[in-house]
Amino acid sequence: MLTQLELASRYLQTLGKKYMASYIHAQMNTLANIDAGKDYVLCTYYIPSELVNLFDIEYVYIERIVGLAAGLGLLKDVGKSLLPDGTCSYQKAFVYLIEIGLLAKPRAILALDYPCNDSMELCRFIHKKYGIPIYDVSLENLENDLENVEEALASFAKMGRGKREVVELSNYAGEIKKKIDDTRIKYPGVISSDDCLKMFTIENCFGTKTAVDTLKEMLVYAEGRKAPVNAGDRLRIFWMGLIPLNNNSILSKAEKSCGCLFVFEEMWMFTPYFISPSDFYKDLAEKIRHSLFYDIKTRVRRITDICAKTKTGLVIEFLQSNCSFLPKASHSIQEHFSRGGIPYERMSCDVVSGAFQLQTLVDTIRAHLGDEK
Ligand code: SF4
Repeated sequence: MLTQLELASRYLQTLGKKYMASYIHAQMNTLANIDAGKDYVLCTYYIPSELVNLFDIEYVYIERIVGLAAGLGLLKDVGKSLLPDGTCSYQKAFVYLIEIGLLAKPRAILALDYPCNDSMELCRFIHKKYGIPIYDVSLENLENDLENVEEALASFAKMGRGKREVVELSNYAGEIKKKIDDTRIKYPGVISSDDCLKMFTIENCFGTKTAVDTLKEMLVYAEGRKAPVNAGDRLRIFWMGLIPLNNNSILSKAEKSCGCLFVFEEMWMFTPYFISPSDFYKDLAEKIRHSLFYDIKTRVRRITDICAKTKTGLVIEFLQSNCSFLPKASHSIQEHFSRGGIPYERMSCDVVSGAFQLQTLVDTIRAHLGDEK
């Protein structure tokens, strides 16, 4: 896996995509440290990376490691996972990586009961099967639970950076992210949707120099492409949800095939929420409450706002099969868009181990283009 990541990073460098190369390189370093025996904590998606970054310990987020492994074609046998049928395949894939020895077992687990139960089930499974300590964080008691996590981490990990430094790095990354978003909205297509969907888990690096450096590279790239990008009258599409991980350039392929342009992605809409060292836990709790998926009305309002600014003509929502969270809101979201006169299409597959045909996406877009004529 390390060799493949090194090769991928070098290849991206040759394509001039330094931002992706440095992001992958940072993930490779984390995995190399874990391979060499350094402890890591396993985190569910909304455990704030700023909190873990106070300590000299590695950390792994389920979605990020599974995304990397799937992109490298390492998840062919996930169906044989120890988790029950019907569990989200992100969780199945994580257990699979541990069971086949591609990833060491974590030193501890930090589990937040938002957004989905599947992640909690995975954490409890790993806790029971391998006897690994688990520290729960609940939405009900968010601030206190996050503070307790600091105490728990301090019992086995050395302190690393101070809160002030972590907060500065996180806020700086947020500022750069906002500039990237503004540029992407003003000049649709300056950064491809595929790239943003490969990199949205950079949210789980906030509070590190890696996030700052990677986003800086991304901004430089976006600034440099303002002039050549010509969105013209191409159909502009907003992408909700995930992409098939084993075909993670599918949107660029669809653009080539139908002449459309993907302009923004829901998964990239993580808020640059600014935090302070003095109200560290209160702010981290608020940051979670401000995340896109926390409240459906806010989620739809923010997406609709970007659709208006980017002159989006179609919204496509791509759902993960067996997701216990996102599909619940899907019908109500569809109603919001149809009331607002924005065409909406829904499709799905098992994004981790299933197949999805490019042609299905192309046909959907072409049908919409036909309707427009
Ligand atoms: S796809 Fe759904 S069930 Fe799976 S990890 Fe994400 S939110 Fe949870």
